[in-house]
Amino acid sequence: MKAAYFSKHGKIDEISIGEVDDLSISPNEVLIETRFAALNHLDIFVINGWPGLNIKKPHVIGADGSGIVKEVGSQVTTIDVGEEVTINPGISCGKCEFCLSGRQVFCKNFSIIGEHGWGTFAEYFKIPEINVLKVPKMFPLDKAAAAPLTFLTAYRMLKTQANVKQGDYVFIHGAGGGISTAAIQIAKYFGAKVIATTSTPEKIAKAIDIGADHVLNYNEMKDYTKYVYKELTERHGIDIVIDSIGKATFQNSIRLLRPGGQLITCGATTGPFTKLNIANLFWKHLEIKGTSMGTQGEFREVMKLVFERKLNPIIDKIFPFNQTGEAETYLNSGNQFGKVLLNFF
Ligand SMILES: [Zn+2]
Repeated sequence: MKAAYFSKHGKIDEISIGEVDDLSISPNEVLIETRFAALNHLDIFVINGWPGLNIKKPHVIGADGSGIVKEVGSQVTTIDVGEEVTINPGISCGKCEFCLSGRQVFCKNFSIIGEHGWGTFAEYFKIPEINVLKVPKMFPLDKAAAAPLTFLTAYRMLKTQANVKQGDYVFIHGAGGGISTAAIQIAKYFGAKVIATTSTPEKIAKAIDIGADHVLNYNEMKDYTKYVYKELTERHGIDIVIDSIGKATFQNSIRLLRPGGQLITCGATTGPFTKLNIANLFWKHLEIKGTSMGTQGEFREVMKLVFERKLNPIIDKIFPFNQTGEAETYLNSGNQFGKVLLNFF
């Protein structure tokens, strides 16, 4: 089958498009003919590699995808050949105490498709039956591929980790990113007041269009924390900060919080190390919570809202699959608003 793969770690230009071995499925797995796949920063991290990441090469990247079921394993009972499906990219053992109690994200064997095993940037991909979700008729497969990783992550951040409530002030950095476009909508769905940052007037308009109440241009307003405190929250401060940026934003995230506020982090696209004034944490009774992906239950809850069109996966651009390298370079530029996709037909 044709796939986007790399044979050694390095930069985005290590991506090749070409033939790799066909897949064979286990009794509990489903083989899917890919229609759309969505890019994530994870793809680039996997190509770069990190200490301890030990994967066989060639390696097929890609964590999000939708398509048509081509084949099902002998033990599969809930999915049929020919059905349109999308997937939960988070794979766990299904047998440990955490999996059995519905907390799959704590499983020691938790992984994301395309991270350790082969991913979705191929003509076909395979995944356990429990990770496959039927897409309702009339719901487009491009949006079904765009939603899972980012909506699942943002949903767990806001609902489970932060327990967002009606009227909360939620601050979201970098409104154009996949996590952020999901988080803006999810926060609004739960009745929060959303303040976001981004870099251009065009992105400000788009962020307001999907529900943000106030959007600041961080290039024009370097020190926005006082303005947010005094003007936008009328000296209340932010209840919940959603941070997937890391080094570049973390200190402002801490400054923005009201006493007792929560910083929820799910990523560090600008780098993982930062200085932290511990006194700010204890004097202000702050909570910092990490999170990554979500549980099978959270996946089904958030995708139900997506399928009911209460949440709308924003697609910035769709590249043909043979331009995966160009698509990853575009994602890495940060110029997009929403998801970058590949199509396979
Ligand atoms: Zn487990």
